[in-house]
Formats: sequence, structure tokens, C-alpha cells
Amino acid sequence: MDVDPPADLEGKTGPDSKGKSRFLYENAADIMCRASRYWASIVPSGTSWHLDTNKVLKVHFDLQEGQGVNAHYDRKKGLVCYGQTVCGIRVYAGESPSLISHELGHAVLDAVRPDLFDAHMREIDAFHEAFGDISALLTGLQIDSLRNAVLAETDGQIHQSSQVSRFGEQAGWAYRQMLPYCVEMDCMRNLANCFTYQPISTLPLETPMAASISRNPHSFCRVFSGAFLRFLAGVYNENKRMDSEGLKKASEVAGEILMAGARTANITQAFFPEVAAHMIDADKAIYGGKYEESLKDAFERHEIPYTRETKPGPAPPGKRNLIAMWILGAKYGLAEDFAVLIPAESHSRRKMKRSAAAKEAESFVEDLFLRGKVEVGEMDQRGKARGMGPQGAHKTHQIIRDQKTGLLRFTRRYFD
Ligand SMILES: [Zn+2]
Repeated sequence: MDVDPPADLEGKTGPDSKGKSRFLYENAADIMCRASRYWASIVPSGTSWHLDTNKVLKVHFDLQEGQGVNAHYDRKKGLVCYGQTVCGIRVYAGESPSLISHELGHAVLDAVRPDLFDAHMREIDAFHEAFGDISALLTGLQIDSLRNAVLAETDGQIHQSSQVSRFGEQAGWAYRQMLPYCVEMDCMRNLANCFTYQPISTLPLETPMAASISRNPHSFCRVFSGAFLRFLAGVYNENKRMDSEGLKKASEVAGEILMAGARTANITQAFFPEVAAHMIDADKAIYGGKYEESLKDAFERHEIPYTRETKPGPAPPGKRNLIAMWILGAKYGLAEDFAVLIPAESHSRRKMKRSAAAKEAESFVEDLFLRGKVEVGEMDQRGKARGMGPQGAHKTHQIIRDQKTGLLRFTRRYFD
């Protein structure tokens, strides 16, 4: 792990420039060390960052104005943070422990489940976002003073709203000035919520964040992260040590069970129930079912079924047997069709019939175009694709020309 001195981007060298740059560097280094130490104690021994990350996960500071208050995880670059001046105040993602810990959560999940990166399923994207928010929650709880503040604020009712449940308070303020509908009332997303599980295909593309959930993964993720906060509170209560050390222990147990569930869950459209079922299995295997009631209570409150679609047992991450499914380029203003890779078993060539998983991949691509998240470059010959979605949206996916085949291919660039 490494943190690039932000002063480099200003044409200076080293982390010894004064003021803001120095603060950004020290702050990010501190957050990354704390978050990495926590996750190093949770992931299986021998785990390393994704192969494309070159062994060292870096944090980059993009200091250009007007990039939005955001950050992303990129397999090549590592973590990239941006900022924007809002109402005369410079708000920078690199200052936020929540946002940096969230992006590191994407990197951790990608290290143990690289196959989720290009799964092309909306609920899997939402789980990645939930995992990022949970990473911010759990790594925040490694600070003794913050644990005491949470215990005081909630009077020991950990499932209630607190400094660690309110994800991105400062960034949330900035978004509220620019796009009030896209964040909650007091933060970007609050893990203390009552949103319930529904098939993601039945939800609208976007809704006001404070009021309801939508297909946007940053919105739908709150169903799972809300259940996880409930589970964390259940572990804390079960262990009957109602102090800072008890809360620290609960954060370790809950993180361990989450990691086991995430590592073994099979790729499926209904990914929340799949992870939930595997977390219950993990609790039985590690703790003899000690936290089963806490898990079931948490999932039931958020109406996440914990029955599996697939057989029990681990789904070892690895290269899946993928085939290309072709999507009509004309629908998106492209002169050529483009390929999306989907699991081979989900697509029957012989019957020329698209499976539910293939339809889900089509819907996944369509949602991204509608939200302006696909970079098409010179392939957009009619300008139609550029006109889709809000201006300035960060492009998480792209359509590139495959160097070997010369054909167009749809891929992910990063998680934001
Ligand atoms: Zn994210």
C-alpha cells in the first residue's frame, strides 16, 4: 500500500509541501493504514491485491477543480480522489475517512472475489457498494474514541444512527447543495435505515435517496448495509460486553462472517440472499451458530430471503467459463454491435433463447447508458450515446475495440 504525495500533482515533489496537500497526504495515509490493518486481520492469509494492481495499492489525488466530490477504485491506478468547490468551500473526497475506506473496501472485495468485477449484474454491483460502506463502518470502529462516541450517541443501541452509520457526512453536505435528491438528509447514505429487499428489476432507475430505493447500486446497497448494521448490533448485544472493547470485538466477528459469506457466495442475480445464506453457513462453521438468530433477525427486518438458489458450499473465485453475448449497438447510437461477457451456462445458443441472466446483463448495460456511465469515445458516431444520462457523470464502464479480434467489447473501468 502506498499514498502518492498530492503535491506531485501541483508540480512539486514529496509530501513536504505545506497546508492542504500535506494534510491530504497525512490524512489518507492514516486512514489507509487503519483500514488495511483491519482487513488484513479478516481476509485469508496470503491474500494480495488484484494482480493488475501491482502488489501495492496507491492513492492518487486528482486536484483539478470541478471533478465532483467523489473517489473510485481502479485496478491499474488504485484509489483516485477528486474534489469540487461548493458554495465557496473546497470539498475533497481525500479528506473523508468514509470515502477512502469505502474505496478500499472495493479493493479488498476485488482481491478476494475478482470475478465480481465484471459480473454484469445489478445486485452484485449493489453488494460491492454495500461492502464499501460496511468497510467505512468497520474500519471507523477500530478507533477507540469513535467507538466511545458511538456508544454515547446511541446509548448503546448500535443499530441507531451514529457517526459511523452516517456515510459521507461532509460529501453529503456538498451534494445536497448541488443535487439534493441524490443524498440523504444528513449524509450520503445512512446504514441505519428501514429499506427492504425487492427484486431490483421492479425498481425505478432513480428515486430521491432519502425517500426510497432505486436500481442505482448506490441506492439499493442500503438494503444490505442496513441489515449488516443490525447484525453488528446483534453481535454486540449477544456478547454482553457493553463497552468500547465489546464493540471492537463485535466489529471483528461481524466482519469475519461477512467476509466468509462474500467469499463463498455463488454468482447469481439474487446476490443479497445468496450472501445472506452463506453468512449463516459461515456462522455455523466458525461459531457453531452462535449468531444465527442475530443474522436471521437482521435479514428478516430488511426482508432479505436467506434461502439460496444454489447448492451450499464454496464458490472458489477464479476464471469463469464466459461467452460473448452481442448487444445491438444501434440502440445506443453506435455503428457496430458490442459484446458483453456472460456465464456460458446462462446462454443457450442452440435454442437461440436468452436466459434470465443474459436478460439481466442487457438490463445492466441499459441502466448504465441511461445513467451516462458508459464511455464510448469515437465509437459514438451519431452522438446519441453522449446525449444519454447526466452531463459530467463519471464513466465506470467503457466500450473498447478488442486488439485481437477488432470487435467492440463492453468492460468495467472502475467502481466509484
Ligand atoms: Zn463505491
